[in-house]
Formats: sequence, C-alpha cells, structure tokens
Amino acid sequence: MRVVIVGGSFGGLTTAYELRKRLGRSKCEITLISKDRHFVFIPSLPWVAMGSKALDQISFDLEKPLARKRIDFAHATVVRVDPQAQKVVTDSEEFPYDYLVIATGHRSANEAVPGLGPFDGPGHSLMSPPEAEEARDALKAFLDDPVPMAVGCAPGASCIGPAYEFVFEIDHLLRQRKMRHKVPIAFVTPEPFLGHFGVGGMGKSRQFLEGELEQRDIRYFTSASATTRMRRP
Ligand SMILES: Cc1cc2nc3c(=O)[nH]c(=O)nc-3n(C[C@H](O)[C@H](O)[C@H](O)COP(=O)(O)OP(=O)(O)OC[C@H]3O[C@@H](n4cnc5c(N)ncnc54)[C@H](O)[C@@H]3O)c2cc1C
Repeated sequence: MRVVIVGGSFGGLTTAYELRKRLGRSKCEITLISKDRHFVFIPSLPWVAMGSKALDQISFDLEKPLARKRIDFAHATVVRVDPQAQKVVTDSEEFPYDYLVIATGHRSANEAVPGLGPFDGPGHSLMSPPEAEEARDALKAFLDDPVPMAVGCAPGASCIGPAYEFVFEIDHLLRQRKMRHKVPIAFVTPEPFLGHFGVGGMGKSRQFLEGELEQRDIRYFTSASATTRMRRP
C-alpha cells in the first residue's frame, strides 16, 4: 500500500508518524511531500517578528527525522492531483498513491483587503515565515521612528490569537525601552467582543482581555473591519 501525504507541518507529520507507528514498511510505503524543506514551528512566528528568535531557531530539516522513521521525503510543490489515475503531480515528478492525505494548511488571504499589506500596503502580518521576517524589519524601523500603532485582525481572519500575543509583546517591548508614552496603541478586531476568538469565547477570556488591555492603556475596537482606506501615519 502506498500512502502519499502532502504537507510537512503539524498535520502532515502527525499523520506520517502515526501511520508508521501502526503500519510497518512491509505493509505501507509512506511518502511525505512538502514545498518547504523545513518544518517551521508556526506558533513561534510572533517571536521572529519581535526579533527575539531567528527562523532557523524555530525550524528543522525534514529529511533526516523522516528517514529515521523510514518515511520517504520529497521536497517538491504539488501542482495537481489526478484522482482518476491516483497520482499526485509535482513540479518535479509524479507520485502514485493508494491513499492520499492533503495537509497543506492555510494560506494568507491578504487579497481579501486589497492594499492592506504586507507586500502591497502599510500593514504587516505574522502568518507565514516571509511575512514574519518582513514584520521584524518593519519593527526595527518603527523603533527608530515610533508612530501610533494599530494591531488586529482583518475581517474573516480565522486565527485571532497571534494578534493578542503581538499586542502584549509590543506593549512590553515599548515599556522596557521607555517609549510606550510615544506610541498610542489601538487593537482592532472583527470579533463581537474581546476574547471571542471565533468560538464564542473561552471561560473568562472576555473579562481577562478587557481588563488587561485597559490596564495597559490599549484602546480596543470590536466588530471592526479594516478597509483599504487606511493611511500611512
Ligand atoms: C502566528 C501564528 C501563531 C499560532 N499560534 C498557535 C498556537 O499557539 N497554538 C495552536 O494550537 N495553533 C497556533 N497557530 C495555528 C497553527 O500554527 C496551525 O493550526 C498549524 O500550523 C496548521 O498546521 P497544518 O499542518 O494544517 O498546516 P501548515 O502549518 O500551514 O503547513 C502546511 C504545509 O503544507 C505545505 N504545502 C502547502 N502547499 C503545498 C503544496 N502545493 N505542495 C507541497 N507542500 C505544500 C507547506 O510547505 C507546509 O509544510 C498559530 C498560527 C499562526 C500563523
């Protein structure tokens, strides 16, 4: 039996390791295909943006750990799946399969708010390694010439937590550098209330976050939508 897994992150690796634990190589050949040679620990991207970790400190090369588990690794980008022929077509070769697992994750839908950024406007993002590195460079320039800052999520965002993480990180950094008084901070979110996280809230998340933002003098705007009418400050 041939299993092909597309994606070398949490979903793909968990599937590959779990399958290998249950099925030996004689029963099952597993090939994991990823367009990235590395696993990147995505939840640490806010640290990359803050400049406290480099990308290589939160990544590892996929090939060796997979080989130790006798899982084949292909560094390639999948361009098409042919379900009739049961094969995955990549930019370099084709992989036949009996079972296919697609674990390609999210993509940043930056085009949902044209002109918002990071690469076509003033905004910055934490959602992928290149975006986090862009945000890190922008933060360096910001610290030399601080201006008012808005932190938040665009409408439709499904991963809200990093915005909260970042706003607390930036507040802390500015206080450490004794610059906080120079930077009014606003938190802007499409959530109906703070701490909703798209799931109706968790425990006392609303009270906790309202209290923490108020205590830190961070103004917040809920049910808010970012538009292209943003101006560079
Ligand atoms: C800034 C940030 C902080 C987060 N913090 C947390 C947290 O604290 N706790 C938590 O539980 N979750 C957190 N999350 C969410 C978590 O990171 C994601 O849920 C998780 O990464 C999803 O894993 P995944 O394997 O589904 O996809 P991804 O991590 O998105 O990986 C997709 C994989 O597919 C590969 N791929 C994509 N397209 C192709 C293609 N065409 N061909 C070949 N390979 C392809 C990619 O190279 C990658 O290896 C955070 C997310 C972000 C952005």
